[in-house]
Amino acid sequence: MINIEPIKAFSDNYIWLLTTNEGSIVIDPGESDNLLKIIKERNLNLKAILITHHHFDHTGGIEEILADKSIDVYGPNNNIDSINIKVSNESKISLLGIEFEVIEIPGHTLDHIAYYAKNDGHPILFCGDTLFAGGCGRVFEGTFEQMYESLSILKKLPLNTKIYCGHEYTESNLRFAKSVEPLNQAIISRYNDVVKLNKQGIPTLPSTIKIELKTNPFLRVGLKSIQQEISKKFNTPKNDKDIFVAIRQWKDNF
Ligand SMILES: [Zn+2]
Repeated sequence: MINIEPIKAFSDNYIWLLTTNEGSIVIDPGESDNLLKIIKERNLNLKAILITHHHFDHTGGIEEILADKSIDVYGPNNNIDSINIKVSNESKISLLGIEFEVIEIPGHTLDHIAYYAKNDGHPILFCGDTLFAGGCGRVFEGTFEQMYESLSILKKLPLNTKIYCGHEYTESNLRFAKSVEPLNQAIISRYNDVVKLNKQGIPTLPSTIKIELKTNPFLRVGLKSIQQEISKKFNTPKNDKDIFVAIRQWKDNF
């Protein structure tokens, strides 16, 4: 039995805490206060930290956690010294009886990776700031093409894959998605649901690949409806990659 819960951090980050009867792991601890409190209160046995990319809001809590308990920190090959186990594409990690596979997904940063587990037919994905519910991360270090390729990999994962991303951006992402596809009923109804959840302070995650394929414009760039809307607005895009770039640049200024 796996329990995956969000711990809110900063203004809109989620730190993910995964617990089985063998212990717990934490993904992207940008800060440690709430996490260490929960671990203490529930007497959890924290076994490892997983990092998706080097940004401070995903790594800032590592040192304090290690000061509390010496455990392994898995992450990409970047300049963060506290990552003692460097992983790369197709690296296999076995933790708490779960087999994770590393997928390199550069774009948001060059070092960005995701952790995917098939989990006996109930797949899970921790994808940091690359694929968001209803959107995708900003392109800071990589190229738009890299981000497009990275999302192309993720969108081929099984439809029932649960997606645990690094921020609560769903409402603003879907507001943008409505502009890209004004007639998409799935986006409109998801947006209305998400507004209600946000009002109650309930996380809108996890999502699934199935939901994203229906409502996330960045995964839908091959569709005629989107191509028409984008061509009308920008009249330059020629192929799926161009359309992706046009939508990402539009979102940057939305
Ligand atoms: Zn980031």
